[in-house]
Amino acid sequence: MGNLKRYQMTIAGKKVDPASGEWFETENPYTGKAWAEIPRGNAEDIDRAVKAAKDALPGWRRTIATQRGHLMRKLGDLIAENADSLAATEVRDNGKLIAEMGLQLKYAPQWYYYFGGLADKIEGAVIPIDKPDTFNFTRKEPLGVIGMITPWNSPLMLTAWKLAPALAAGNTVVLKPSEFTSASALEFMDLVKQAGFPDGVVNIVTGYGKEAGEALISHPDVAKIAFTGGSATGKHVYSTAAQSFKKVSLELGGKSPNIVFDDCNVENAVKGVISGIFAATGQTCIAGSRLLVQKSIHNEFVDKLVALAKTAKMGDPMDPDTQVGPVTTPPQYEKILGYMDIAKGEGAEAVLGGGKATRPECGDGWFVEPTIFTGVNNQMRIAQEEVFGPVLSVIPFEDEEEALAIGNDVVYGLAAGVWTESIRRAFIMSQELQAGTVWVNTYRAVSYMSPFGGYKQSGLGRESGQAAIEEYLQTKSVWISMATEVPNPFVMR
Ligand code: NAD
Repeated sequence: MGNLKRYQMTIAGKKVDPASGEWFETENPYTGKAWAEIPRGNAEDIDRAVKAAKDALPGWRRTIATQRGHLMRKLGDLIAENADSLAATEVRDNGKLIAEMGLQLKYAPQWYYYFGGLADKIEGAVIPIDKPDTFNFTRKEPLGVIGMITPWNSPLMLTAWKLAPALAAGNTVVLKPSEFTSASALEFMDLVKQAGFPDGVVNIVTGYGKEAGEALISHPDVAKIAFTGGSATGKHVYSTAAQSFKKVSLELGGKSPNIVFDDCNVENAVKGVISGIFAATGQTCIAGSRLLVQKSIHNEFVDKLVALAKTAKMGDPMDPDTQVGPVTTPPQYEKILGYMDIAKGEGAEAVLGGGKATRPECGDGWFVEPTIFTGVNNQMRIAQEEVFGPVLSVIPFEDEEEALAIGNDVVYGLAAGVWTESIRRAFIMSQELQAGTVWVNTYRAVSYMSPFGGYKQSGLGRESGQAAIEEYLQTKSVWISMATEVPNPFVMR
């Protein structure tokens, strides 16, 4: 234990130890070994952090919006300058590929630039009101203290999606990252300080969901919870936040269909399906975990898919050539293996993988084999429940109507992919699929400019794009009378 790196939290601009006086270990998924100690924050720390955010609120919301944007652009620059070291921390803590994290962290600053640019374009309206001698206008005001809770996949990217619009809108923040991958967010706080944000505008409390997380979602002085995570936790967050009528945005799980028609460019579709399910070891909310493939090309397509998936290079996520890394956490590793057994028990056939990866290059890490199941029907658990791993279920369909019926027949609605050369088909599918994002002839594309979020049980609210800033604002209607006399006080005006 002695030689592990020990982190501190940042509250009110100061590095602090947790009130509990306890730390827990965080492990490297590739080696399976602990490499650092994370503060075990609890309700007392959350209380301190919320107080710091509340104290910082009046100053921050009154800061000239252009200056808020300026600080955010500085923060973006600092993330870009430190992208390599932040990426290395994410890989060590999370097991994601350096090939992906390096790019992701060079891209993350865009959220701070984009929303920093929006900060001084938050405008109300003058209403041509239907009352004489009255001036009515609206103001867009921040909500207050925002509690942000993030999951273990893509910690800093998902933080940027929330933090950038929240700060631009003039809110202050308490961030609670996942207990499995807190290190990068703790390091990121140094950049917030360096950028020159006033103390208390952004605070971080690390710790377990049931301790620190629970205290944040039930804290009376938190105005909104911005949550990304699993649907079961999301449901709990939603109902707990309702007790004090907090605003809530939820980015939850998915079981996204990737739909391949027989008129598609097969080589491209094969690559798109692979990227949808095996990139990031399938640990993405947008994983295209259900491959719906038209019966007429089913066998040919599956053969090509298996052939390409077989070439995936597994191993050390720090090696830039590695294509499939370890699973991030031991419980997730067990969960994925459990779903492989469930699929086999339901009668699906593993035409690729189907168990632990014991290749020598996988060492002692938590690796599972990239897996493709055929013979799946949409009623099976493997087709309905989120695995959050590199496990693909192949479901055949006859025509557009059946593809839509199967595609939409899940409780989730996060994303969908469509592979076709027909513009008519592309349009109809994109219109009828119940998903917050539909990709046609591409998959897994996101941008700071384009809204992202879930239909159905995949969530509430949108991140990215201009509208995302509205999630962190409330509208006030201001009435100013120019009448010299107040008429009959017993009637509504
Ligand atoms: P999780 O729900 O287990 O945990 C998410 C966060 O919630 C963590 O920080 C955790 O500590 C916290 N938490 C747990 N219990 C809590 C409680 N009682 N009160 C308050 N906070 C609590 O999710 P995970 O396993 O970390 O992440 C994987 C899930 O996240 C998947 O379902 C995935 O689809 C989803 N996800 C969604 C998106 C999206 O944008 N829609 C993006 C990434 C991940």
